[in-house]
Amino acid sequence: MTRVFRIEAAHRKIISKPDLLNFLTFLDSNGVELPVLLMDADKMEKKALAMGRNIRNSKVFYAVKANPAPDVIKLLDGLGLNFEIASEGELEILARAGVGPERIITSNPVKTFKFLRAAEKYGVRYFAFDSRDEVDKIASIIPGANVYLRLSVPNEGSEWPLSRKFGVEIDEGAFLASYAKQKGLNPVGITFHVGSQCTNKYNWNNALYKAKVLWDLAAKKGIAFRVLNIGGGYPVKYTRNVVDIEDIEKNIDGLIYELFPKDIEVFIEPGRAVVGDTGVFVSSVIGKSVRGDENWLHLDVGVFNGLMESVGGIKYSYIVEDNPEGQVKQWTIAGPSCDSFDVIDTNVALKEPRIGGLVLVLSCGAYTISYASEFNGFSIPETIVIRGV
Ligand SMILES: *Cc1c(COP(=O)(O)O)cnc(C)c1O
Repeated sequence: MTRVFRIEAAHRKIISKPDLLNFLTFLDSNGVELPVLLMDADKMEKKALAMGRNIRNSKVFYAVKANPAPDVIKLLDGLGLNFEIASEGELEILARAGVGPERIITSNPVKTFKFLRAAEKYGVRYFAFDSRDEVDKIASIIPGANVYLRLSVPNEGSEWPLSRKFGVEIDEGAFLASYAKQKGLNPVGITFHVGSQCTNKYNWNNALYKAKVLWDLAAKKGIAFRVLNIGGGYPVKYTRNVVDIEDIEKNIDGLIYELFPKDIEVFIEPGRAVVGDTGVFVSSVIGKSVRGDENWLHLDVGVFNGLMESVGGIKYSYIVEDNPEGQVKQWTIAGPSCDSFDVIDTNVALKEPRIGGLVLVLSCGAYTISYASEFNGFSIPETIVIRGV
């Protein structure tokens, strides 16, 4: 069967025509069950290798929670990336891939006992913290561990803010650094997260200025930091254009060079930017209806089995299989479950597809499958990493 897809200019910034054809050829020749998440290995490789390229003395730790599929981990491991994890489950995935403990850090400031015990056993030695209780916990399970403070920073300009849950202010941070040292831990530095899908490159400036104040205050107390962990937050294109990672990094690099000692180590923890725009959900239309004055389009992938971030405001781009009889209409797009929460988007202009026609949801490589559940019995789509032909 030949399928026709019309790619608009805006889509081409996310997926090129040859790459799309490559995905479709793969689908047709492999009898793949839908919905499925197809990931482009070549693009992922390019994105992964671009991380940190414009920041001096930097080391990249891929945030595993963005997409922990074994084939994704294998590819990134092969490129020499390091990893950031938060749980024994993520540690297990890395252990199975043969990633050594010296390439793993943990930036979740509040960890479970079970995870700390597993990390101790495996040999992981870098952990974030932002409270006295966490110092006590880490010190009791992993004496002498390297720890870095999670600093609270503004999350303006991020579509997925993370600021409220974690992080301390400067004075409390300086106190905690001394406390950690007193408890036998090794306070090595500072971390922060500007918020995920951060589209304002100056957000990192606010964070860096604040980190600099804490850095100097700790030095006055006799604690010489050497690690600055700038977290994640690099954006990908969903519908709107976003600032280039190169721009973001040059800006960060310049400021770090100006503010901090020249021999520090910079850790970067991108998740979304490594995998987000390298994956496409291939779903199909399972129903159409008109309710009141709304046109509804029902897909076999929804909020529960992959598109959870839509609820938090992420708006995806769609390419529908062409239907010669279709007219362009405004759609409310829903997933397959019986829950009325299962609505992915509203007011999306699309040419009306056929029932059974394919709908490609772009930029679905991050925070989709890792969030998915089998609610209502709809299975979680398989992830397939494919290479260009
Ligand atoms: C989630 C997370 C990341 C990755 O964030 P992205 O916005 O996906 O780049 C990095 N560090 C920490 C501590 C995180 O919690």
